[in-house]
Amino acid sequence: MNGARKVHIKSFGCQMNVYDAFRMADTLAPEGFAETATPEDADLVILNTCHIREKATDKVYSELGYLRLLKQAAAAEGRRFTVAVAGCVAQAEGKEIIRRAKTVDLVVGPQSYHRLPDLITRAERGERVIDTEFPLEAKFDALKAPSRDATRKRGVSAFVTVQEGCDKFCTFCVVPYTRGVEVSRPVEKIVAEVARLADAGVREVTLIGQNVNAYHGDGADGRAWTLGMLLHRIAEVPGIARLRYTTSHPCDMDESLIAAHRDLPALMPLLHLPVQSGSDRILAAMNRRHTRADYLAVIARARAARPDIAFTSDFIVGFPGETEADFGATLELADAVGYSSAYTFKFSARPGTPAADMPDQVAEDVKSERLQRLQQAIDRQYAKFRAQCVGRTFDVLFERNGRYPGQLAGRSPYLLPVQVMAPSSLIGDVAPVTITEMSANSLFGVLAKDGADCQVAGLAEAGALD
Ligand code: SF4
Repeated sequence: MNGARKVHIKSFGCQMNVYDAFRMADTLAPEGFAETATPEDADLVILNTCHIREKATDKVYSELGYLRLLKQAAAAEGRRFTVAVAGCVAQAEGKEIIRRAKTVDLVVGPQSYHRLPDLITRAERGERVIDTEFPLEAKFDALKAPSRDATRKRGVSAFVTVQEGCDKFCTFCVVPYTRGVEVSRPVEKIVAEVARLADAGVREVTLIGQNVNAYHGDGADGRAWTLGMLLHRIAEVPGIARLRYTTSHPCDMDESLIAAHRDLPALMPLLHLPVQSGSDRILAAMNRRHTRADYLAVIARARAARPDIAFTSDFIVGFPGETEADFGATLELADAVGYSSAYTFKFSARPGTPAADMPDQVAEDVKSERLQRLQQAIDRQYAKFRAQCVGRTFDVLFERNGRYPGQLAGRSPYLLPVQVMAPSSLIGDVAPVTITEMSANSLFGVLAKDGADCQVAGLAEAGALD
């Protein structure tokens, strides 16, 4: 494949998909594909789909409806317009997509992205291609690294996938079926990728995986390394100022990871730790493998290690069999932890998962009402957390120019957006900022003369978020 052609990749869902979209673009760049932000001027459109939430498949078909029109217009102009469906919907429902949507030329599962150039060539020859195998070959080795230019354009923060798949089999989740069993990348491959990113100006790296803290990649010493060990190693890469990781399972918060929170200043004091429910009965039905007390014990260990740590979470309300008392336990747990923010969802049955066929499905209006109550509680915690930032001094990583001349936009250690009047030469730097006020979406501050104070030290620990 040669010549300057354009690819538009539309991603839905999680950060894994954002990362995968970059890697697909990197793999297609040497084949002559430049990225474009719109499907209208593309020669190739890839829908990078997510299967986690309800109506994901409907969304794909509605996107395909529009792409069908673009394909017809391209055909009228004598132009080739190739349509690919990637991601977890492709993995789960690939054959059905090919059968139902004649617009689709190619269906490719997440484990096969390194084969895209070949698959696209076959699709362009007129074959309708489907590749959703879980191949044994190492996908990450075969995917192309981004160019320095591509990395620079993507900014000072980057995702790095360290682990894929999940062995937990929560009864509501499709990930073990769409992404397969847990596979971890070797330590040195990850370190090399981080070093390349740092060399191109990246200052903050978020290690990602469907169950990232189950990481167990091969180290050069022949041992399986934990995520805590990996974080220590990555913190040594010159240029990397900040580290984060997501998404974690409470059962995999081992001592090395807790110790990393205590010992690594670069590891940001924000932990996304999904709990899903505060009721032991529902946690068991979800096959979460931990109790409410286990979860709260992990929170306490993390706080003991890093007193300024804040927590975010995922909740599902209206899981089959959830009573008002179960839901009340969820509200109590949220209250006990005091989150800085959280994602809240109504249970939606994913075909093929055990929970889809469980009795006692909760009525839609009950789910909606519970979701609203939980969301209101989380909103209050979020507002309180942000309000307590005003008057404090944080290290801010400056990411880009702000909306107004002379303004820079950055992120606090807690991922809150911060706007500051500062020279653009500070982009990529971490500097202390005193927060002076806040709006609905942002914090505003001034460059501080002295260093950052203890951030939001002890807020949650002291129950200040109650
Ligand atoms: S741990 Fe997360 S990814 Fe794994 S099955 Fe449970 S919800 Fe899905």
